[in-house]
Parts: sequence; C-alpha cells; structure tokens
Amino acid sequence: MQQQPSVKTTCPYCGVGCGIVVSSKDSYDSVAVNKPFLANEKWILKGDKEHPANLGRLCSKGSNLLDTVGLEGRVLYPQFMGKQVSWETALSNVSEKIQATIKEHGPESFAMYASAQLLTEDYYVANKFMKGFIGTANIDTNSRLCMASAVAGHKRAFGSDTVPCSYSDLEEAELIVLVGSNTAWCHPVIFQRIRKAKENNPNLKIVVVDPRKTATLVIADMHLGIKPGTDAMLFNGLLAYLSEQDVVDQDYIDSNTDGYEQTLLTAKNTAKDLSSVASYCGIKAGLLKSFYDLFAGTKKTVTLFSQGINQSSSGVDKVNAIINCHLATGRIGHSGMGPFSITGQPNAMGGREVGGLTNTLAAHMDFDDESVDRLERFWGSSNVASEPGYKAVDLFDAVLEGKIKVLWILATNPLVSIPNTHKVRQALEKCEFVIVSDCKLQTDTTQYADVLLPATTWGEKDGTVTNSERRISRQRPFLQPPGESKPDWWAITQVAKRLGFENSFNYSSSAEIFREHARLSAFENDGKRDFNIGAYSEIGDKEFDALSPFIWPKINHDKNSARLFANGRFFTTTGKAQFIAIKPRLPVNICSVQYPWVLNTGRVRDQWHSMTRTGLSEKLNQHTPEPYMDIHPLDAEKVGLTHAMLAKVASEQGELITRVNINTKQNLGSVFIPIHWNQQFSSMGSICQLISTTVDPISGEPEFKQTPVSVTPYQTKYNAVIFSKEKLDFKACDYWVSSMGEFYYKYKISYQFGTQTLENIKNKLTSENTDHIEYVDHHLGMNRFAVFKNEKLHTCAFSNIEDNFPDMEWVAKLFSKDSLNKQERSSLLAGRPSSGNVVGKIVCACHSVGINSICNAIKNESCTNVQALGDKLKAGTNCGSCIPELNELISTTLTC
Ligand code: SF4
Repeated sequence: MQQQPSVKTTCPYCGVGCGIVVSSKDSYDSVAVNKPFLANEKWILKGDKEHPANLGRLCSKGSNLLDTVGLEGRVLYPQFMGKQVSWETALSNVSEKIQATIKEHGPESFAMYASAQLLTEDYYVANKFMKGFIGTANIDTNSRLCMASAVAGHKRAFGSDTVPCSYSDLEEAELIVLVGSNTAWCHPVIFQRIRKAKENNPNLKIVVVDPRKTATLVIADMHLGIKPGTDAMLFNGLLAYLSEQDVVDQDYIDSNTDGYEQTLLTAKNTAKDLSSVASYCGIKAGLLKSFYDLFAGTKKTVTLFSQGINQSSSGVDKVNAIINCHLATGRIGHSGMGPFSITGQPNAMGGREVGGLTNTLAAHMDFDDESVDRLERFWGSSNVASEPGYKAVDLFDAVLEGKIKVLWILATNPLVSIPNTHKVRQALEKCEFVIVSDCKLQTDTTQYADVLLPATTWGEKDGTVTNSERRISRQRPFLQPPGESKPDWWAITQVAKRLGFENSFNYSSSAEIFREHARLSAFENDGKRDFNIGAYSEIGDKEFDALSPFIWPKINHDKNSARLFANGRFFTTTGKAQFIAIKPRLPVNICSVQYPWVLNTGRVRDQWHSMTRTGLSEKLNQHTPEPYMDIHPLDAEKVGLTHAMLAKVASEQGELITRVNINTKQNLGSVFIPIHWNQQFSSMGSICQLISTTVDPISGEPEFKQTPVSVTPYQTKYNAVIFSKEKLDFKACDYWVSSMGEFYYKYKISYQFGTQTLENIKNKLTSENTDHIEYVDHHLGMNRFAVFKNEKLHTCAFSNIEDNFPDMEWVAKLFSKDSLNKQERSSLLAGRPSSGNVVGKIVCACHSVGINSICNAIKNESCTNVQALGDKLKAGTNCGSCIPELNELISTTLTC
C-alpha cells in the first residue's frame, strides 16, 4: 500500500453512510501501519466535509473509530477445529465438505448467512456463488432483521425496492414525521441535519410517533406516544381523514396509481372515526386530530421510518399504510416529500442491490423465468436458483432440523441477533460443519466454527457501500490487513475455484467485481429495473480508486437521479403505484397474566450491534456501561423494583438479568432493553434470549419490538466493582458485566450468596513485586483494596457498591498515571476524589464530561443553553450526539 496523506472512506456503522477522512499524522512508516493499535497516534479522523451524506458531521461512534482498529481480539490466521492452519488447508477443507455434502444431499443442504457489514463486492460474489453456481437461494442476511419489511412494502407499492427520497428532502420538507425511529441515537447525523433544518426554517414541524419518549423528542413539536404495534391503524385513520377533508390529490391518484377505492374503503372500515382510532392507539383524540390536520395541511411532508415499523409481525402492512398516505396526496417523487425508510446497517442497501436477501436475485431482479434466464446468460451458468430459499429465522430452523448441513456465516453474529438464542445455539451445535468468516476471534458465534477464516475489516477493506439514500461511496483502506486476513470476496472466490467455477470467479480486485456488478445492473435493463449504474460498467481501476459518492440510478454520467418517481411512473406491470388495502393487526405475541409487560428493544447512543468494535473504545463505553431496563416508576413499584438494583426479565423463550433504570419516560405497562450485550460482555444480558421467532408472514422480519415478559427483582447479597489491568474471569458469578478502558478492564459482579470474592482476587494478585492498600469492615461487609505494580495502579476493587459509588470516571483516570500520590491513594479507598468533585455518569463521550459537571455548570455558572455548556465544558462541541441530553439536562435542572 502506497503512502497516502489522507484517505477518504465511509463509516462502517449505521445506514446514514457518513464520509470520513483519515489523515496520516506523519510520514509513511511501515511499522506504524502494521501496528494499528497505534492508530490514534498515527492517524487523525474527521468527517468528510465534501461527502453529501454528512457534510463533515460525525456522531460519537464515527468520531471514535480509530479506538477500534487495534489488534485486540483479531483473528489473524485461518483455524480448523480450533487450530491454526494455512489458507490452503482451510480452503480445501471447506470446499471438500461443501462438495461432498452437495453430492450427497443436494445444493439445498448448504447455506450462507451474510451481513450488511459486507461491502457490496463481497456481497455480489457471495450471491453469485450461491444463487448462480451452487444453485440454491439459501443465502440470507442480517438485513432480514432490519429492513426486510420496508423492502417488501416498497415492492408491493412501487414494483421495486426503491427508496424514493434523498437526505436533502429532509432540509426541503416542511413536515417530518419520524415513525418508530429514535433518530437522535440510531441515526445521529440525520438527526443533526433535521435539527439544523429546523433552526434554518422555523416553519418546519417535527412529529415523533413512538411509544417511548426518546432523546429524539427534543426537536419534536408533537409526540404521539401510541400503544406498541398500532401504527397501521394510525395511518389508516390518516388516509380516511385525508379523504374526508378532501385533501387527497385525485389527479395524481387517477393518473399514477391503482387500488385507491378499495384501500380507502378498508381504511374507513377499520379506522371508523377519530375517537376510535385515538382509543385504539392509546392517545387523546385532540392530539390525533392535530397530527392529521398538520399532515393534511403540509404538502412537503417526509415520513421517515425505521425499525419501530419494520420489526413487527405486520411490518410490511405498516410500511404500506404509510406509503398509501403519500400516494393519496401525491407526495412522492418531488422535493421535500416522500416515504423514507432509513436502514439500520451500513450496507443494507448494497446488499439489496446484489440480491442479498434470499427472496431476490442480483441487480433488483426476482425469480421470474425471464430474470433467471437473463442471469444464466450473463453469468454463463445453467444453474441459477429458480426459487427463494430460507429467510433468516427459517434458515436456522432448517439447520436445527438437519436440512442444512453446512453453514457459512460471514461478518455477523447470529447467536446475538437471531430470536430465540437457545434454538440458534442448538442449531449451531447440531450443524455438521460451520464456517465463520470474521475479524474477531471470540464472539458468541465463532466458538461454534469448525473453520474460522480471518477477514479484513474497516480500515483494511476496499470496495463500496450504499447508504439509505441510495448513495454509493467508497470504503478505502488505510491500514495493512494484519496477519493473514483477507477480503471476504477473496475467500469465496477461492472456494468457488476449488469447486470448478474458476472462470467465473477469477477476480483480482474489488474494482473488477464492481465493474461486473455495474454491467449486470444495465444488462437488458431498458428502464425495466430501478437499479442501474451502467455508467460505471467500464470504470477503470484508477477511476474506481477515485470514485466520488453518487446516488443511483446512474445510467449515464450526464444525469442525476437524487429523486425517483418524479414522472409518476413506477416499476409495476401497469406502470402505476399500487395502493395496498390494510387491515391493521396487533402484535401476535400478547401479554398474559404470566407475562404482563411488553418488552421493547432498540439501540443505545454509543454502541453498535454486538459491540465487537464499539466495545473496544473507552469513550464509547462510558455513556452506557451496562445493560439496563427502562421501567416506569409506578410499574417498578408494583413489582418491588428500586433504581439500580438487578431484575430478572423472562419470556416464554428464556430469561436475562439486567440493571433497573427507573424512568418516567417509559410508558406504563412496557419496558425497554437495549440489544447490544452478549456473552462476551455480560453473563445474562443477551436480548434475543427473550425474543420469539414470530415473523411478518411476508417479509420474514421478526417481531423484535413487542415481546410479553415478566419482571421480578433479582436480589443479590454481594455486589462489587473491579478495575484491573489484567483480564479477570468472573464467569462463576451469578451476574457479571465487563467493559474496556484504554488502560483497564472493568467488571461489575453480583452474587446471590457468595461473599469472599474480593479477598480471593486480592490474594491472587498480590506478590512480593506488588504493594497494596486495603480497607475492610467486617461488620458492614465492606472490602476495598488497591494493588500497585511498580508504583502504577494495577487493580482496585470495591464491594457494597451503590449507584453513584465509586466515582467510576475518576477511578478509571487513575489507571493512566505512572504513580499515585499519597492523597490519591487514600482517596482511592474512599472511591472518590478528595476535592469531592464527582464527575458522574458521562454524557459527552468525546470530551468525557459527566452529568455532575454539567448540572453544576447549569445551576451555578448560568450555562442555560447548549452553546454556553460547550464554551464552559466543551460538552457537545465535537460530534453533537449528546446535545439532546444536554438540552434535557438544562430543562430538568432549571425546573427542579
Ligand atoms: Fe457512522 Fe454515526 Fe454517521 Fe451513522 S451517523 S454513519 S454511526 S458517523
């Protein structure tokens, strides 16, 4: 790799797809690039001001990416049955097993489970391999868990999986309805763009539709806190209201759509009047009418929706209920308007382009005879799959039933993300042969790998990704792949060649794959398929290296396509958009006496998926260091829960243990638990242990947002927190959770009965090369100690911890010091600094500003707006992800 003073690449986290510039701090140094754990010393990372998705902005996750590119926990060499082997041995074992299994049981006995973390080039090759040459569509992806309902809804309405809007529509809109989307935490740069748009245009109104009161509400003019799962009725009611008020666009309906009359009739029959809809949705009729009037009266409306809509047993219907309202008002295909599905994952859209989902073929083709024939001719294969395979949840069922005998998992962690973990674990245990391609050695899933293939990751990968507005951007490498790690497309081509498909998988670069992908998109397209990037069919390697972000379709270089459907023509057989009559359905899983609470799930601000990357960053671990459950105070009281104790949450599928966060913003009757924690970071925090395998019948997307659960106190007799420079093992504890700092590992542990834990740890760590200090009060059952090695703090531990004790941030900082002075040593056993200035829970991750400092500045330093807090403490001045919380702290501190 040649020295490049700066490299433009794309964030690997959410579907916003922010551009990033990574610049070298000093001259090229081959040692430095081979030691990426020095990344923060060698590189500077900034938002790319020229990237149209973010215009220089980044959120906390993107800003702290350099913390995550170290070698900690990387898979560096191929492994077979847990032992290091050569690539040759690993690939031979994989191809021989696939070949033998297919020979004996047919192509359907082999499956791939891939991921929207793959680059489009990896994805293209995986799909071509499975659907084009193995002859099975048994390849699905974790996008099934994220936006498969939006895909199905688009296809029903538009005849194609088309997101019609672009981000600039958010700035041009006069009403933005955010449905089932905690945009502030899950798509923070989109949130920042909306916030800015509102500042620039006081007429812009924001409505948030969400059962929870989330951080997104700080920009909301109106909040509809509807009952979980009632969105379809809300939008059916809206459609009926728009018709009653005569604000539908009859010309548009007549010229460009089919099925309006029947859809309206169904809407009217289900959503009879305002008060019945309001009561069904659990909100006041006056509030509902205000929303309907606002929508009716604002032509430039964008409805932005996300997992709160998609992850439902009626997710596809909800998507179409939203689209119906846009079609009825002709609010699609023009500036500042349209239904806008925003994807959770970095390359969900790229996966859709290449047929990443089992029920689609490459280049937005389906399994009709014409498409299969076209692909056979394009790929030179007579074996293209002619029907869809198993969708994600069914795929693991098929593994469990023994129908799938060889499973290749790429860049994803199904033991954390597929519902009913117990069943998925059984499936992987039973599977004859599991191949895992990953960059991480230890995940919940890799432990089941017969063959583990070392994959390159962000910073090393080279290819393209597509964001939620259909913008294709380059991910470019700035680090050398460590050890023997290789791109996923390379590993797949090597297996394909060994299976006899060498002529069709003879790629030498991602540029070559991208060219073929572009050629296929244009092949016999003639305007019949929305996805067309034919302009790049002959792109040269150098041009590919320099490729600027662009939005598809890109049929030729003269035309820009920021918005689709401007001409009112769609990709259906009639060329018209289809209204879909919706009969709203409540969640399949309903509460009972045994499971009386509705569990909602989602993301936290500073973590991503199963934390394999974000869990490496001290800054990102500070905001939410432990899995938690939000519960309303009245509900907590009902079941005997107090703030910060542990609770057991159980469903028909399983149970977990989590920290209680009593929160007035949580709706009565429901609880919220984030999705990220798993067995690498906690004993019992994995959410999918609770989730059922109920899916939407069309999209196959699981009902992640509504699981009936029971909640009970989990009483513990012994609680402690331990910081140590060494990795310690607390697997025997009833409850443990771990996180990482730059210089330490942190553990919180609890026992229901044990008492001697800290004493044991201290005895293990002390030797003649160490000194230690200790405070023990047997009467109070209190034990605190600190062990020093060469003057440096090595381990410290505190039993009998409380919500604000010890001051975690202050203790953490002591680990970066070469030695502690006398006062710091004695304060350490007190668990807080002698000044008494406790930082408190970190709110601003970029500048490590804690809640106590912020509240103090608001109360005593007249910092009554975000700007003043930024000037005083720097809080909120980098990525801005904490601004919603700063605003909230200002209003609560000033009113209490
Ligand atoms: Fe990455 Fe944050 Fe941008 Fe999402 S919003 S792409 S996580 S920087």
